Amino acid sequence: MRLFLSVLIILVLTLALQDPPKRVLANLEEAKDRKELAVTFDDLPLNGRQFEAERLKAMTTKIVASIKKHNIPAVGFVNESQLYRFGEIDQRIAILKIWSDSGLELGNHTFSHMSLNVTPLETYKEDTIRGETITQMLLAQSGKKIRYFRHPYLRTGATVDIKDDFEKFLRQRSYTVAPVTIENSDWMYNLVYTTAKTRGDSETMKETTKQYLNHTEAMFDFFEKLSVELTGYQIKHIFLLHSNELNADNLDSVVDLIKRRGYNFISLEEALKDKVYTLPNTYAGKAGPSWIHRWMHTKGMEVKLKQEPEPSEMIQKMYEKEL
Ligand SMILES: [Zn+2]
Repeated sequence: MRLFLSVLIILVLTLALQDPPKRVLANLEEAKDRKELAVTFDDLPLNGRQFEAERLKAMTTKIVASIKKHNIPAVGFVNESQLYRFGEIDQRIAILKIWSDSGLELGNHTFSHMSLNVTPLETYKEDTIRGETITQMLLAQSGKKIRYFRHPYLRTGATVDIKDDFEKFLRQRSYTVAPVTIENSDWMYNLVYTTAKTRGDSETMKETTKQYLNHTEAMFDFFEKLSVELTGYQIKHIFLLHSNELNADNLDSVVDLIKRRGYNFISLEEALKDKVYTLPNTYAGKAGPSWIHRWMHTKGMEVKLKQEPEPSEMIQKMYEKEL
């Protein structure tokens, strides 16, 4: 009898394990459908036309509050040259510290936002080292070290030799390159938006925001399709935004848009675990495209750079006018 009971118990347990409740299955299905995205901000403390420290502080407080509210483990890439303004150095370092004090990670975006296409390699390397000083000082306060580098304009070298040489230099200094898979030309919309804000033109600000969100949606549509074309699945994306007033005022809407598309926010470290980031990338050239284009190019697939959605003619014209 005891043996019979034991067998019965084992049988019941086996069946229970083999037939998980429907609820568990539903959760698993849902988890499979979730998309994942790391968010990065370039040109800290301020992308685009420079303005005074008080306005910069208000902008930074707003953007960081929104990042924290939505629990986004963002990384911000710094251009330390922006900190050196007569009479404002301490204030500007304190503004940059708002990011690190909020537990957000900082990376290097070179000291003075140089383009690797037009800068001699040795000068570019020096500018990279010069860009570490204050960022490292701020990170050290929480026992961290700089680990990520983001190329300005995403320009990684016009020739394979330059690209390889600089990447070797980065590895020697213990850097990991932070690729980008989705961007939305926010820097272009921002120039139109902030100049409108400065002159108190709320109509233009509203229209620019509307078009910015539409364009962001179009860029996500485009790169999600390319991701599937390249890998057969939705990769862990890395999204490039800039530290500017357009995003400070509208990050909640951008986040809502991303969440509606089914994304969870993950860290850059987590995103880089996707095997897509180990794909060969031999792209060398003048442009600074999404890494998805670079991998497709390396694989010999058709590169669809020209099919990428562009900001509307209105925004492009207004941007050129404001330059
Ligand atoms: Zn930049």
